[in-house]
Amino acid sequence: MRENALGTRHEGKARRQIKIEDMGMGGLFMLRVHFGRRKKLRLKVMWMLLLSLSIRFQAWGMDLPSNNRIANTIVNPCFLHASVNWGFFGHRHINYHAVFLLPPQMMPLFKKQIRYLADHATDPDQRRYAVKEEAPRHYIDMDRYGQEADSLPESWEDAVALYSIDSLNAHGIAPWWIMVMKARLVKAFRDGDRDAILKLAADLGHYIGDVHVPLHASSNHNGQKTDQHGIHGFWESRLPELYAEKQYDLLIGKAIYLAKPESFIWQRVRESAAAADTVLQLEKRLSDSLPSGMKFAYEARNGIVTRQYAEVYAAAYHTLLSGMVERRMRQAIFAVASFWFTAWVDAGQPNLSIFAALPAIPPFNPSADDTQFQCGSEHSPPTGF
Ligand SMILES: [Zn+2]
Ligand SMILES: [Zn+2]
Repeated sequence: MRENALGTRHEGKARRQIKIEDMGMGGLFMLRVHFGRRKKLRLKVMWMLLLSLSIRFQAWGMDLPSNNRIANTIVNPCFLHASVNWGFFGHRHINYHAVFLLPPQMMPLFKKQIRYLADHATDPDQRRYAVKEEAPRHYIDMDRYGQEADSLPESWEDAVALYSIDSLNAHGIAPWWIMVMKARLVKAFRDGDRDAILKLAADLGHYIGDVHVPLHASSNHNGQKTDQHGIHGFWESRLPELYAEKQYDLLIGKAIYLAKPESFIWQRVRESAAAADTVLQLEKRLSDSLPSGMKFAYEARNGIVTRQYAEVYAAAYHTLLSGMVERRMRQAIFAVASFWFTAWVDAGQPNLSIFAALPAIPPFNPSADDTQFQCGSEHSPPTGF
């Protein structure tokens, strides 16, 4: 075994990142740590088996057969699609930070239940596997509409009249669905139904977060048309995880009342669609300008080795994006808070202090991390509205 792999340990997080230049000791070291002495020997054999199959690290992501059980044991097969929709990390942060933009009258409920709103920020992603109608609610492929993209009806009824429901579903319905969720939230406020308010607010925050991701407004949502598979999770999960807490300023002013929430959200969708080409082109240019060995690294999380964009590569891409991820995250936080606030105002500003005495809802799956959201099919086949 050659010893040319570089390992970096992050103590306390059970995470070890290894820069792979070639087949080397790094993988064996990681497996030894996670699986103990006996299994180390067994996995060493597997490693050699993979070697004998001439599967090189640099090409692993593309070359491993998906039904190769040995390979799947060692490497998560969906490595590059790290998570769906801002990832667990991004959605949590968006819902969490949005609470601080709300007026004092909403705090007795929203601040008190801030943990719930953050924990449940990814519920809609979990539903994608159980509810067949769920998938198209998370995106809209604006480029599919060509010249008509700028004149898409903001009203669902008008859109249905112009296109068929099947056609709309085929390209995603996120902005229309956001208005459905907003209407439901208004009703929950009117009904004084605390649990429904929280559930709908958390869900609404998710969908609004999604439409701020440029690749949620493009049919080339994971770079599959331009040989950039994995760019979706790179932009919306990898970059925020690396930089949001260290660098982003997520303290934003106050929520505003949205007199025309549908126009507001459609504007955000159009901004995302306009940015999608930049997201793709900058990564393509960077990728073409660097040796392939610099692009990826391997990272172990919960005992699963995953191929990731290397930190040095992520840093270069993040710089090229000139603050775009932070900007969209800030805009998403502002939009979520403003939708929550607008729904409360439209419901007649009900008194939320009645909920102050109720205990906070217990944490949901406190040990969860984003691995449970991996392997999502981002734009899976559309179904009914
Ligand atoms: Zn989503
Ligand atoms: Zn996404």
